[in-house]
Formats: sequence, structure tokens, C-alpha cells
Amino acid sequence: MGIEISRLRRQFGQFAALDDVSLNIADGEFVAVLGPSGSGKTSLLRILAGLDHPDAGNVRRDGQDLLALDARCRGVGLVFQHYALFPHMTVAQNVAFGLRVRPWRSRPRAAVIKAKVEELLRRVELADFAHRYPARLSGGQRQRVALARALAIEPRLLLLDEPFGALDAQVRVNLRRWLREFHRSLGITTLFVTHDQEEALEMADRVVLMNRGRIEQIGTPEQIYRQPATPFASRFIARGQPLPGTVEDSTLCMLGQALRLEGWVSDGVHDVAVHVRPEDILLMPPQHGSLSARLLSLRHVAGSVRAALHLDGVEQPLEAEWSERDWDRHGGVNGEEVSVHFQKLTVFGEDADGRVRVHVHCHPPHSDS
Ligand code: ATP
Repeated sequence: MGIEISRLRRQFGQFAALDDVSLNIADGEFVAVLGPSGSGKTSLLRILAGLDHPDAGNVRRDGQDLLALDARCRGVGLVFQHYALFPHMTVAQNVAFGLRVRPWRSRPRAAVIKAKVEELLRRVELADFAHRYPARLSGGQRQRVALARALAIEPRLLLLDEPFGALDAQVRVNLRRWLREFHRSLGITTLFVTHDQEEALEMADRVVLMNRGRIEQIGTPEQIYRQPATPFASRFIARGQPLPGTVEDSTLCMLGQALRLEGWVSDGVHDVAVHVRPEDILLMPPQHGSLSARLLSLRHVAGSVRAALHLDGVEQPLEAEWSERDWDRHGGVNGEEVSVHFQKLTVFGEDADGRVRVHVHCHPPHSDS
């Protein structure tokens, strides 16, 4: 059954931090809540954790009203970006904390707590650090202690709010993989908040993309990357870049070229947004009748080549990216005039109901009429 979040609203004055948010999470699922700063990610987590209450909407877990339960009875484990470890307690004492403060009736015996802490520290690969104080741990180690502490109470739901946000890039990458594996072995339903697209796409079973307090799209990393539902999703997830264009009679007119849109169903839609992703831009030697551009900069970064292109008729430089191997095929130098071919475009249009429709267009070079 899992968790059913339905029509949550959280208002601060006139401002809606959460606006009609609905979402189902299956048991054992790893869901990333992704969005820019201020999009409502933390507000959602705080409500699930019982640190805040919504103005409207409800949350059910296995059919039971979760919001009616006291925060301490929700079986929720929490880890935040800034390690909230107690500095005067050792690693083992920190992990044991949640069990030690239980009412005496449900407090496990000291020997049971000790065994449990040892087991958890083994799991987070910190067995040798039990007697250290947090000040003598690295950032990544502290976050693993925080995770062990959250897990000690055997939560049914794990809420992680930018847990790796304060760590350096390499540690983040390692911890992502580690957490993913860790989740596989534990299978606890997990909600992971991040503003980092790569982190969300790499780790999650499903991604919930938020924007201005609303859910913009929910999908698997592949769906959300390959079929962004809105211009925002396209920009934020797939680095989609706007191109000027209009649609008439199922034909896209863009930069002096006419492209037939197969399967375009929104009759009467004129206002469209056309997006191209950096990896869908192909370079060719200059040729008559095709789009001409100038290479503005070239950078070699981690196995790929990134370029800025100035395209006639487009104000902002376009970002393009290829693998080193593809780059070897077409090549180019700074300042060079080239022709550009878009392998794939996404066209977003809004019909009379205000709904956004998506059309992805692909065509080989030279057959664009
Ligand atoms: P970040 O990635 O920066 O943490 P977020 O997506 O987690 O952002 P929230 O912390 O949920 O965003 O905040 C959403 C919006 O609600 C923000 O504009 C924030 O300023 C506002 N907000 C959150 N808490 C309060 C509050 N207690 N009073 C007023 N406004 C608030």
C-alpha cells in the first residue's frame, strides 16, 4: 500500500510553499524529491516528519492517517544536511541516543542497545570508530553516523534532506553509490531531497520534480530525462535550451526552416516552446541552406567536449556537448564557422485547457522538409 500523499497545501501568508501536492510512494521505494531552491522540498519532508502541519490535504500510510500521529510515533528516521550529531557524545553514544531516550517500557536493555549499535556501525562501515567523537570524523563519516542514528529506531520511512549537500564532490559521488547499495540491502522506503539533478537521476527509482510548490513531473529517471513533460522539466533536468519557433498546421517554423511535426495533435496551438539538448546538436562543415553557427568556446571536461555556439537568430549562446569520440569525428576550432543540425527537438504547446503537450521530433540531416 505504501504512502499516499494527497492534495497537500502549506501556506506562509499569501505564499504557497506547497500547492496541491499529491504523490504515492510504494513500500521500499527510493524516491528523490528534486527541485531548485525554494521549490518546497523541505516543506514536504517536514510535514511527513511531523515537524510541521499542512493547511490542507492528508497523508495516509497503509490506509492510516499519518498526520494524526505524534511525530515520535510515525516511525520516521531523519537525516539533514548539517550533521546534527551531539559533539559531546561518541559515535556509539550518538547512534544509541534514539533508543536510550525511549520511555522505559519500550527501552531495550543496555546489552541489546549495545549489540544493535555495533551492528549498525558495521553496516555503515564505521565499526572501528565507535569510541571517536564527531569532531574527529570526516564529513562523510559524520553523515554515515547520522544515518546509523536515524536507522537505530528501525524507521518505516527514511527522510534524507540534502544529506550530502555539505560534502565535497568526490565524497558525494562515493556516498551516493554507497547509499544506493545500502538502500537495496535494507529496503526501507526512502525520500531523498536534493537540488542536484545528477544525484537524483543516479540514485532514485523515481524522481519527483518540484517547482514553486507544485509537482512538475513524476517519473523514472529515464522517463523524466527523455520525456520531460514541461519546459521547466526540460530545462532543469535535461538542460533543454529554448529556440525561437512557431507552429502552424503541424509544421514547426524555426530559424527559417520548416519541420513537419509527425503526430502533432494540438490543433490551434500557436504558442510553443522549442527546446534542444546540448547532446542533440550536431556540427557539420558549412553548407548552403542549413543553420549556420560559430564555435565560441571549447572545453574538454571529464570525457566530453563542451562548446558554446552562436547561432544566427538566437540571442543566447547555445551549449553543445559531445563525447570525445564523437568530437573526433566532426572536430572544430574556436571561432570556426560551422553548420548545425538538431537531431532531436522537443516542442511544448499549451492548448485551450492550458495543458502542455509534448512532441519530440527527430530527423536525419538534409530531410527536414
Ligand atoms: P532549499 O533547496 O533551498 O532548501 P526547498 O525546496 O527545500 O529549498 P522549502 O524550504 O520547502 O524549499 O521552502 C519553500 C518556500 O517556502 C521558500 O520560498 C521558503 O522561503 C518558504 N518558507 C519555508 N518555510 C517558511 C516559513 N517558516 N515561513 C515563511 N516562509 C517559509
